[in-house]
Amino acid sequence: MIKVENLKKYFSTGMFSKKYVRAVDGLSFAIEKGETLGLVGESGCGKTTVGRLILRLIEPTEGKIFFKNTNILELNKKDLRKLRPKMQIIFQDPDSSLDPRMKIGESIAEPLKLYNIVSKNGREEKISELIEMVGLNPEHINRYPHELSGGQNQRAVIARILAINPKFIVADEPTSSLDVNVQAQMLFLLKKVREKFGLTCLFISHDLEVIKVMTDKIAVMYLGKLVEVGKTSDIFNGAVHPYTQALLSAIPVLDPEAKRKRIVLGGEIPNPINPPSGCSFHTRCPYRERICEIEEPMMIDIGDGHQVACHLNR
Ligand code: SF4
Repeated sequence: MIKVENLKKYFSTGMFSKKYVRAVDGLSFAIEKGETLGLVGESGCGKTTVGRLILRLIEPTEGKIFFKNTNILELNKKDLRKLRPKMQIIFQDPDSSLDPRMKIGESIAEPLKLYNIVSKNGREEKISELIEMVGLNPEHINRYPHELSGGQNQRAVIARILAINPKFIVADEPTSSLDVNVQAQMLFLLKKVREKFGLTCLFISHDLEVIKVMTDKIAVMYLGKLVEVGKTSDIFNGAVHPYTQALLSAIPVLDPEAKRKRIVLGGEIPNPINPPSGCSFHTRCPYRERICEIEEPMMIDIGDGHQVACHLNR
């Protein structure tokens, strides 16, 4: 459904500057139909930029992005507009997706009208159906966003997206702005609609526990590059890259009897304007060797689609 090849996005640091922030630096991956790929990494690693690039909300510096074999970077404005309903995004903050001056029902009706999904007569019924599907009450149709909670607004955003029958969704930290007690309900809803509509998803999160329950496959990002990709079960049961191992070791363990060795990474994430030579993780890696500072490790398949970029696996 989605294929990305050598995707790059460099942001200039100023109008007259020759320096660039390498937010995304040569990513390649694919998402099969009906599959959910989790994109994880620390804040600032470039994962949100990847989501926006795939939807062409921002233009890449280089690379190819295929949606069902069509390179969307070659589409003109008219063809891109036709494709828009099929590729949607759920932002972290539902307030950025809803017009505060519109009632929830009007917000859901807007894309139905714009893309002529149902006739005027059938619109009310369709809105009621969507409202019920996302777990809102009929009375919410006539409320404004400021009269609802964050969780209810995020449900309304999902109803608005489902109104136009998308095929692919980018969910960018969709629960992180919500109260903890609402987050689980929202994840349950996302799973339900994903299954019901057979959606393909890119699920972006820094929370590995959320990623574990929501995804089929995981791609781990560090400083604009992918360092490990694999099935969710393979990553959780046998992560190979030292960075992935460190991220997993930081997940809190509820069982006081259970023991897990915490890998504490030294130092800060390097400046993406001037990334380290060789393996970009070498400044923080407890296993670095001389070659790590000189040569960038290639992504290699270690079996069953599990890919790792680390000299330890050469
Ligand atoms: Fe660590 Fe070297 Fe592997 Fe990079 S290539 S993760 S520095 S061991």
